Amino acid sequence: MRAQPKASHFIDGAYIEDDAGAPITCIYPATGETLAELHEATPALVDKALAAAKRAGPEWAALSGTERGRILRRAADMMRDENRALSEIETLDTGKPLQETLVADATSGADALEYFGGLAATIAGETFRLPGGDWAYTTRDPLGVCVGIGAWNYPTQIACWKAAPALACGNTMVFKPSETTPLSALRVAEILKEAGLPDGVFNVLQGRGGVGASLVTDPRVAKVSLTGSVPTGQKVYAAAAEGLRHVTMELGGKSPMIVFADADLDRAVSGAILGNFYSSGQVCSNGTRVFVERTCRDAFVDRLRERLKGVVMGDPLDEATNYGPMVSEAQMNIVLGYIEKGVAEGATLAHGGRRANRDGFFVEPTVFTGVTDDMTIAKEEIFGPVLSVLDFDSEDEVIRRANDTPFGLAAGVFTDDIRRAHRVAAAFRAGTCYINHYNAAPVEMPFGGSKMSGVGRENSLAAIEHYTERKTVYVGMGDVEAPF
Ligand code: NAD
Repeated sequence: MRAQPKASHFIDGAYIEDDAGAPITCIYPATGETLAELHEATPALVDKALAAAKRAGPEWAALSGTERGRILRRAADMMRDENRALSEIETLDTGKPLQETLVADATSGADALEYFGGLAATIAGETFRLPGGDWAYTTRDPLGVCVGIGAWNYPTQIACWKAAPALACGNTMVFKPSETTPLSALRVAEILKEAGLPDGVFNVLQGRGGVGASLVTDPRVAKVSLTGSVPTGQKVYAAAAEGLRHVTMELGGKSPMIVFADADLDRAVSGAILGNFYSSGQVCSNGTRVFVERTCRDAFVDRLRERLKGVVMGDPLDEATNYGPMVSEAQMNIVLGYIEKGVAEGATLAHGGRRANRDGFFVEPTVFTGVTDDMTIAKEEIFGPVLSVLDFDSEDEVIRRANDTPFGLAAGVFTDDIRRAHRVAAAFRAGTCYINHYNAAPVEMPFGGSKMSGVGRENSLAAIEHYTERKTVYVGMGDVEAPF
């Protein structure tokens, strides 16, 4: 199977290769086959991409929001028209089943392009009347060259969630996908060009962390938006701080999901499945600490195990498959290591726990019961299909334990008591909270983390704040009084 792109990078409106860059081998996670061979960007290409983005900025920013938005909305339509082909690329690159990628990746990217394309014409400032006839106004100006750096779990979505608001606001972007999933961002760049985006406004560079690091510290860069792990976020935030660059940090989590005994248990089990096993558990906001009220714990676990019989593990390109492999051998080994630790530290393996007996990097959906707060599997982000069930007895206790983590990306509560639902949501210290649902992320809604899980928000009107800065203009209408 091959998915070789025309070249590794897309700079200034064209594909470009430089064989001098270190090789990147793109692997199909379901079989271990090589899909494509690419190269990391050399310093010369990093410079070329940033120079193109810098040059293209003023003309792009000078277009009206309506004109910019029209291009983004056209790109959204093209992505929808091409959804199947884009989904197949995403499935090959990530191993996620086509059943998922057809509805959650290019479609979500298209939503962002459509939403921010629609908003572009409304981005405006304010006016203030002041004493003596003076007045002031603000404009919302683009920041300039923005760098986007992506994780490997939702490559198309991440490219679009960063590009759409950045471009709508009149910025330009150099985007570096994860070295594990380099393919789809290239096609996004091509589609944007075909939709009418001027050359240089959106560029894609491949590379590992070193390429990312060289982008973050370049003096031409005004803003960095990273989706990645907390340790990478700390490095990128610190490097960006040196030049006082704007940042958005979408980082990892260890989110709680609380199931009260009065909840609709089937709905709660569905939430736990969505929040632990979708994308084989490789979702940042997953509710991996599932706190279940002790009186309904056995019933919950029984229903969960019953539902796990519905897992169809197999060829991700077969639309009947609903459960795919880990993105890479390295990620599979990390997940298997955590499962071993869970067993060693005394948790009870209630389901799964092994590498699947087939080609590729498949790990069985895994459920631990009897998990306590001090266990490694309850404290660290695993980023794989490992659900921990923790027991609790009272609301106060579970809120305290749910919040007792350095992370704060997401949190969920399942209950049929409306007052309790809102009380618990108010008490959560997390950026995105769910009542009787889990992991939905429509573009209308701000998404992002608190505490160590991030800075800033993606999607919604909130993203406009993160891709513009206000300029204030004071207008004196009368005499200027001076002391001498
Ligand atoms: P990662 O932190 O290893 O890498 C993320 C990106 O950063 C990659 O493109 C990588 O090349 C780049 N990078 C690494 N070191 C860098 C450096 N020093 N300077 C600049 N760039 C550097 O993360 P990953 O393994 O690709 O993705 C999984 C992580 O991403 C998980 O922790 C997950 O929770 C998180 N994530 C968060 C969100 C969110 O929206 N909050 C979404 C998806 C994934």
